[in-house]
Amino acid sequence: MIDIHSHILPGIDDGAQSYTDSIVLAEKAVSEGIHTILATPHHRNGKYENVKEDILQRVEELNKIFQEQSIALKVLPGQETRIYGEMVEDYRKGELLTLNQGSQYLFVEFPSSSIPGYAERLFYDLQNEGLIPIIVHPERNSELMERPDKLYNLVKNGATTQLTAASLTGYFGKNIQKFSQQMMEANLAHFIASDAHNIKNRTFKMAEAMEMIEKQYGIDMVDYFTENAELLIKGKNIYKEVPERIKKKKFLGIF
Ligand code: FE
Repeated sequence: MIDIHSHILPGIDDGAQSYTDSIVLAEKAVSEGIHTILATPHHRNGKYENVKEDILQRVEELNKIFQEQSIALKVLPGQETRIYGEMVEDYRKGELLTLNQGSQYLFVEFPSSSIPGYAERLFYDLQNEGLIPIIVHPERNSELMERPDKLYNLVKNGATTQLTAASLTGYFGKNIQKFSQQMMEANLAHFIASDAHNIKNRTFKMAEAMEMIEKQYGIDMVDYFTENAELLIKGKNIYKEVPERIKKKKFLGIF
């Protein structure tokens, strides 16, 4: 399995703090059946800045350490950038890093409770630049939960999305779990990833999430997510189904 979202690089954000942390995370990943992991440190989120060149160098170092320790986990470079107005300009300047350096896929994180008014326009501009935005964990955004049509519109216009495994397993609560399922059912989810930060309270849950998906939706849905992660790191087009709108919750007694 490939995990496309993690904070395994040590000492540069709120994920692993030391090489020991990175090794502990790596061992946990391997135990869940993950053989390749994208290191996607936070960038421009108000707290952490991690530009492309730094990430590339640190990924190389971490791979060396894993090899020395005989840990069977390959680390690939990535970045989790909080949405901001000058993303196209900074991408051109070489500050932003697409997933697995050189693919067309770029992680974009929204603030946790809102969607900036310029998001649609920015997504259009990013795509004009040849990039495909991947919205990370949209199921955890309260505005999208309130107004899922916004998510539908972004996906209809070419954006893709990454659900977090722990959202599906219920770690973030019932509402987020339900919204994650609705996204999957409406063809609004394209990737599942861990967004692992540590092995205590923000761990992988990939094996558990995939098991739940298989039980609830069948093995084809598991294959869809597994294959999309493989296509992503090869820089190929992913599988997509025609997106649908999430129907508003119907309250008992009203209908
Ligand atoms: Fe993250």
